[in-house]
Amino acid sequence: RESLVATIKETIEKKSVELLHVQFVDIEGTLKHVTVTADQIDQVVEGRVMFDGSSITGYTPINESDLYLDPDLTTFAVLPWTEQEGYSEARFLCSVKKPDGSDFDGDPRNVLKKTVKRAKDQGYSISVGPELEFFLFKTDENGQPTLDTQDKGGYFEPSPKDLGEKVRLEIYKALKMMGFTIEASHHEVAIGQHEINFKYADALGSADAATTYKWVVKTVAQQFGYHATFMPKPLAGENGSGMHVNISLFNDEKQENAFYDASNELGLSEKAYQFIAGLMDNVKDFVAVTNPLVNSYKRLVPGYEAPCYIAWSASNRSALIRIPATRGAGTRVEIRCPDPSANPYFAFAVIASAGLDGVDRDLSVLPSVDADIFHMSKEELDARGIENLPTSLEAALDRFETGEIGRKTLGDHAFGEYLALKRAEYDDFRIAVTNWEVDAYQGKF
Ligand code: GLN
Ligand code: MG
Ligand code: MG
Ligand code: MG
Repeated sequence: RESLVATIKETIEKKSVELLHVQFVDIEGTLKHVTVTADQIDQVVEGRVMFDGSSITGYTPINESDLYLDPDLTTFAVLPWTEQEGYSEARFLCSVKKPDGSDFDGDPRNVLKKTVKRAKDQGYSISVGPELEFFLFKTDENGQPTLDTQDKGGYFEPSPKDLGEKVRLEIYKALKMMGFTIEASHHEVAIGQHEINFKYADALGSADAATTYKWVVKTVAQQFGYHATFMPKPLAGENGSGMHVNISLFNDEKQENAFYDASNELGLSEKAYQFIAGLMDNVKDFVAVTNPLVNSYKRLVPGYEAPCYIAWSASNRSALIRIPATRGAGTRVEIRCPDPSANPYFAFAVIASAGLDGVDRDLSVLPSVDADIFHMSKEELDARGIENLPTSLEAALDRFETGEIGRKTLGDHAFGEYLALKRAEYDDFRIAVTNWEVDAYQGKF
């Protein structure tokens, strides 16, 4: 720790860092920060930066509103887009502590840490590799987002059809300078849609990376006249944006991937099957976390490479859970329902605890479904025991409220706050009159 602090101070000196953004996330996973001058670095690293919790979504204080920011020193990064001759800015991501030094339960980072700890106690480390898709929309003369992409690109399409290639390159450079290991970058299926992939890490590291990624993508895009959005379904009739979550367990004692078994037909271990079963058993109860918006459920419809049925497959992209072809140390399951508007800390926490619940309970999994589920009849779906994911935020919240996984994973404070926030959001939508209704009914009736 001493040496980390020393290295950070050297970087501050060398890069002429003048301002430090001391960051954390609210209950929706939205990044917040307070900016202090770099001469206050000791205050920052000692966790003495304070803020008013009562003004942060979902942080409603129990009895005190003074909260402290405890930086994770490994998240220190100079912000490439601020660098000039003799000037730059840097940031830290923090966990939130109460004045007595204990963890604040409303902080999503603390929630995920608890899940990681529970897995550790069972002998596992959790690896997570998320894939976050996003759209680039042109901004208008006032800098406001439009729904115009001006893009002609499709899946893997290069420029000149891909208008976003240059922006993506700049985003890549910024992420790389901040310490990301980038593995791939490409135009996605929909016009104006993109994806940049970074290397998997432990669950907390990946949630931090997802949070940072969203911020960097938006910030760099804005400098090029684009608005980047992680809204799950901005354009009706086009693919939406997902956040596939690749996850695996590492057996700490044996020092090996717990999902791999060379002797099994599919190369998967008993634990892997139990984990998949746990995901399938709990998914209806946790989609309110992985798919948190009214708009999320407009993505989970047939025909757009997003899942709507609860099934798994070694190959099938219409299934909820897919097993990517890599085996050995890279063996993992990919859950495809989450979208990038989800709070990554909560999302990875509920996914990990759902899978571990399957391991705890020795659940067995239904047969895999390798046929195209989107084109199955109701009878065939029923015969195979394939159920639907909840089709609206309201249905998802009903399950979240009565299910066990949400309360157990988020803890009473965060669970209560999250549920109340999302219920209010749904209620707002419920009384709104949408364009669709006016178009369909005004003329006709
Ligand atoms: N955009 C799709 C989704 O909504 C995924 C497409 C892909 O990555 N193959 O999940
Ligand atoms: Mg991908
Ligand atoms: Mg993709
Ligand atoms: Mg994927």
